[in-house]
Formats: sequence, C-alpha cells, structure tokens
Amino acid sequence: MSSGVAVRRLSDWDAERLRDLAAEFDTPLYVLDPDRVRENAARLQSAFDAEEISYAVKANTTRPVLETIESTGVGAECASAGEVERALAAGFDGEAVRYTAVNPPEEDLDYVVDAAADHDLIVTVGAADTLDRLDERGFSGRLCIRANPGVGAGHHEKVSTGAAPKFGVPMDRVPDLASEAVDRGFDLVGLHAHAGSGISGEDLQAHRELVARMGDLARRVISDVGTIEFVNVGGGLGVPYREEEDPLDLDAVAAATREAFGDVDARLGIEPGRYFVADAGVLLTRVNTVKPTPETTVVGVDAGMTTLVRPAMYDSYHTIRSLASDADRRETVSVTVAGPICETADVLGEDRPLPDSERGDLLAVGNAGAYGYEMSSNYNSRPRPAVVALDGTDARLAVRREAVADITELETWSK
Ligand SMILES: *Cc1c(COP(=O)(O)O)cnc(C)c1O
Repeated sequence: MSSGVAVRRLSDWDAERLRDLAAEFDTPLYVLDPDRVRENAARLQSAFDAEEISYAVKANTTRPVLETIESTGVGAECASAGEVERALAAGFDGEAVRYTAVNPPEEDLDYVVDAAADHDLIVTVGAADTLDRLDERGFSGRLCIRANPGVGAGHHEKVSTGAAPKFGVPMDRVPDLASEAVDRGFDLVGLHAHAGSGISGEDLQAHRELVARMGDLARRVISDVGTIEFVNVGGGLGVPYREEEDPLDLDAVAAATREAFGDVDARLGIEPGRYFVADAGVLLTRVNTVKPTPETTVVGVDAGMTTLVRPAMYDSYHTIRSLASDADRRETVSVTVAGPICETADVLGEDRPLPDSERGDLLAVGNAGAYGYEMSSNYNSRPRPAVVALDGTDARLAVRREAVADITELETWSK
C-alpha cells in the first residue's frame, strides 16, 4: 500500500477535475478522496507499527470514509451512540469499536449496553457516575476508564480537552475507581486519555507529558488490579493548515510516544481523527458577489459557517484557491472571502491574496476533510451541501444535497 507524500496541499488537487465536479454536482460541494484517506492510514500504520490505531470517527462519518478506514484494519473511536451505530453499519468489527461516554444521555447508554452484548464493543467511562449507570443496566461488556491527564494541547482553547474538568476522571482518582470497577465485577480492559487537537512539532512536549503520566498511571493500576489490555493516549495529531507549515514527522511522534510511555505491560494505542481525513477533502464554493469596500474587497461565496464552521468557531485558517481557468493571468488582490450567513463571524478567510475574482468563479477551500461536513448545520435555514467521493477517474455522490424540504419535514406544527 502506497503511503504517499506526508501532506497533500490544496495546490496538488487537479483544478480541471474540481471544476468538472462543481459543474456536475453544483456548489457548495465537499469532495473527498478515499485514496488519500488510505494513504494517510498507511503512513500512520507504518509509523505506529507496534501500536493499536483507531479512527476518531467524529472527524468525518461519511460512508466512503468509514468504509475506507475500516478496510485498513484500524478500529473506531465513537463519541455517541449514533456514531457507534454508523461505525457498525459501515462494517467495523464490534470488538474494534469503542464508545467514549461524555456525560452520556440515557438513550446512548441503553443503546451501547445492548450493542455491547451483541458486538463486544468497549465502553469508556469518564465519571464514576457512568459506571453506576452501566451497572444499573447490567452492562457486562469490556470497560475502559478515561483519565483527565491535567495537560491540554490544541490550536485553540475550544479543542483542548486534556485539562478541562468535563473530560475524564481526575488522574489521582483513577486507581481507586479502577479497583472499585474490578471489585464490582466489571471487565476492566483499558485506560484512556485525550489531550486535545493539534499535536505539532512544537507541541510535542505536552504530548510527551500526557503519555508519561498515562504510563505511570497504567503501571500503578496494573499493580493494583492485575492486568489490563491497552492504554490509549488519544488523538490530536496535527496537520498543516497553512501552505508554509511542515507536516508532522510521524516517526518522531511515534518514537516520542513510545519513549514517554516507558515499560508497561499493556498495548499502547492512539486514536487520531483529523490526520486520517483532513487533506483528503476540499470544499468547492462559487463566487456570487464581488464588492469593493474602503477596507477590502469582499468576495461573497455560497459556502459559509453553516458549511464549514471551523474558521468562525476556532479561528481556523483554511487555504483558499481560485480555480478560475485563467487565474494565472489575473492580478492578485487581497480579499475577504465571506459566506451567505447573517453573522459577522461568517468569513472563510481574511486578507487573502487571490487572483482578482469574478462572479461565477469557483474557489476551493483546503483541508476540509476533517470537521467540515461533519459540523455543518442548518442555521439560516441553509440546506447542507452535497458530498462526492472520488472513485478512480469517476466520482460518486456520497451524501445528497439537502433541500429546504428536508429541514421543514421535521416540523409538526401547522396552522
Ligand atoms: C476528537 C477526539 C479525538 C480525535 O481528535 P483529532 O484531533 O481529530 O485527532 C480522539 N479522541 C477523542 C476522545 C476525541 O474526542
């Protein structure tokens, strides 16, 4: 299996092909390349060859992505009952599915306790309460405890989970809870932690610290309760969102992870989401307005914060490229690319040097494969976009474009 280059840049996508897809499927449109997902999986598997890898499915749950990742043999890390259901439907082996409960609603626990009986999936608890609630339901499946490692990592405070009290059992209480779980007859198989998103070359220290703490915790728990099967140290492998950023050196991250973990009698695991899919997707959007203003030129497009929320929510940077066939011959101007939503935050990029735009031009937004379609919404009664997946020289519609009727169909009130 070819593992490809370390990063696929927006400029590497074939402009003519993207223009054809926009013409065929309309815009806004997410384009996914399952081959690139496969390459990303292969690079992870080569760097973390002795470790257990799962895919945090919340990054992208579209069917071509789930099926592609399942076929590479990695497991599925799920954040909700819905994700568990979709991972199982896409073919993931129940034994390779983990459900990580974060303040789990009743119906989530009802579903996963049933699913665990049929599929032997693993339930990860982040609070002693959740253990009680599993007990009440007669849960007899495999159990994992999520620790709050007290270290966070991330490109934005909203994606740093490691130190947020919401996530996981405080580190110093984990050994007691682990012993209690075993005494109460739970099949404790693992320990888990996740620091947040955005492990980069510079941020490796926070990652090392988390892994070292998990190594210490695991040694302590193992000496208390006997054996566990695995210790998962989370996801968060960063990708270069800016063209000038270097890709992560996966071998270096893997080496640092192993070294910080030390000698533990359990398998080490990771569960990236973003890394599998970010550069396997682009968002195509059409220019509908070009408005010179005293401050800047506003390029209005048909994709906004309801299509891709990361810039508005996390101040994330996404590369934007003009796909106009004569883009090379146009003058470069600095523009603000803004969406159609009635919100100031609805901006995809500011101060971007782009070939002078015209109404009808097609723009591509890079690294849109992770947390793009997945976080899209219906705010402003905007139907969500379509998703197509490349299939050799063809492309197949993976998710059809929503219509307003899809939104209003849920309404039960009428005059
Ligand atoms: C979101 C999440 C991940 C994946 O994070 P990425 O930054 O996409 O790699 C992994 N584990 C847990 C528990 C998560 O919530």
